[in-house]
Amino acid sequence: MNNFMKIGIIGAGLSGLSLAFMLKEYDVDVFEASDRVGGLLKSESIDGYTFDIGGSHILFSKDRKVLDEMLRVVGSVLKHRRRTYIHYKGNFIKYPFENGIYMLSKEERFEILIDFFKNVLKRERGELKKPSNLLEWFYYVFGRAITEKYLKPYNEKLWKRDLREISLEWVDNRIPNPPIEDVFKSCVGIPTEGYKHQLTFYYPLKGGIEMLIRGILRRIEHPIWTERRIESVSLEDGKVILNGEHEFDLVVSTAPIDLTVRLFKDWKDVEGLIDLLDYNSLTVVGLGVRGKTPNFHWVYVPDEDIVFHRVAFLHNYSPNMCPENRSNIIVEISRRPDEKSKNLIEDVLDGLRRMGFDFDVEVCGIWNWDYAYIVYNHSYRDVTNVLRKFLIERKVIPFGRFGFWEYLNMDAVWKSAKDFVWRLTDEGYRCNT
Ligand SMILES: Cc1cc2nc3c(=O)[nH]c(=O)nc-3n(C[C@H](O)[C@H](O)[C@H](O)COP(=O)(O)OP(=O)(O)OC[C@H]3O[C@@H](n4cnc5c(N)ncnc54)[C@H](O)[C@@H]3O)c2cc1C
Repeated sequence: MNNFMKIGIIGAGLSGLSLAFMLKEYDVDVFEASDRVGGLLKSESIDGYTFDIGGSHILFSKDRKVLDEMLRVVGSVLKHRRRTYIHYKGNFIKYPFENGIYMLSKEERFEILIDFFKNVLKRERGELKKPSNLLEWFYYVFGRAITEKYLKPYNEKLWKRDLREISLEWVDNRIPNPPIEDVFKSCVGIPTEGYKHQLTFYYPLKGGIEMLIRGILRRIEHPIWTERRIESVSLEDGKVILNGEHEFDLVVSTAPIDLTVRLFKDWKDVEGLIDLLDYNSLTVVGLGVRGKTPNFHWVYVPDEDIVFHRVAFLHNYSPNMCPENRSNIIVEISRRPDEKSKNLIEDVLDGLRRMGFDFDVEVCGIWNWDYAYIVYNHSYRDVTNVLRKFLIERKVIPFGRFGFWEYLNMDAVWKSAKDFVWRLTDEGYRCNT
């Protein structure tokens, strides 16, 4: 045990817990507002169905070492080759769109081919204006046909915003440039695969995605306090005080950065910046149904008249997610944070029928999340830099998907927990932000 450092962690989602697990040598307390740990990675059982209530989650990573560490913690897992589709004009075409073109009609394939080809030529000749936002980037890289047929409608539905409001920082390392050969092959009818780092994924054999959380919990010896919302933070004589009573040398907050800043008395100094942060909320609807549904893992749904943007078939992730001869379906509906959540079950059932799925519903559940997707708007970088600095100067390190305010998947969270431990020394936290 490192007696010099007492660390408080706000939030017991994946970020807070993986950090507590890796900070074995320190004196650590974890505070969780809700009555159950896990954050977005909770699974809930209803009459034999297990729903991942924070939306569809799969385990994958470009970093094999990180992935193996996470899989060891989970225990028994199933390995899958991705079977994912896009609902396009009433049909299911393979995802990603640019690799699924081979499933379209000859006429449409030709339309896309000629447009993509002309776009590549113009780009190579320097005739296209360099993009400055997400929408321009789609046109610049994919051309008009692919953008207007799929990328624009789907992303507008997911982000609920004009795509010109989203900066190129969002694109960085997240949306790969399509290999030109793949698009050409797909246009002439040859199947190819895209987003290969996610082509193979893993999923817990039993218990849903929460098995990752449970595996970590079993390995933590520090106290984890549930129903302990942190409502105030202050820095006094070099110590960080939580809720006026718990004293720490250093605090890590995985709560959303805007909420963490508001915990300080002087938060109004940066109020104008907090207002510039943008994000989306999420509603997840789970359905336990009698009857068979297709052998897909998940489907992206750009259709304007269908309420959800993605539907996942969890019984195809693991047969233990529902009773025999039943299906476990979850859909995700993104919302602007100011948009009220409502009971959407009827709209969801209508959307599924429009996609050709008909079944008898046995159970259903609905779960709302305030924070789900960070929107990389044009002030993103400047605002997050100032807010991170505000916290770090007060010995609170922002951490995790919403703490750091970055689109982190589970593997990136795990990796940043390892990095955090590396940066911690007897003198304090070595920070480069
Ligand atoms: C729809 C969706 C699908 C995803 N799919 C995948 C996927 O397939 N694969 C993948 O790798 N990643 C996926 N992710 C990302 C993954 O969910 C995140 O990386 C991970 O869950 C982030 O965990 P976190 O602990 O940072 O945040 P959270 O899960 O939000 O945890 C934060 C915790 O802090 C607590 N808290 C907040 N405020 C306070 C306070 N004041 N006091 C005390 N506690 C507080 C909250 O209650 C919560 O428990 C997906 C994300 C979404 C939204």
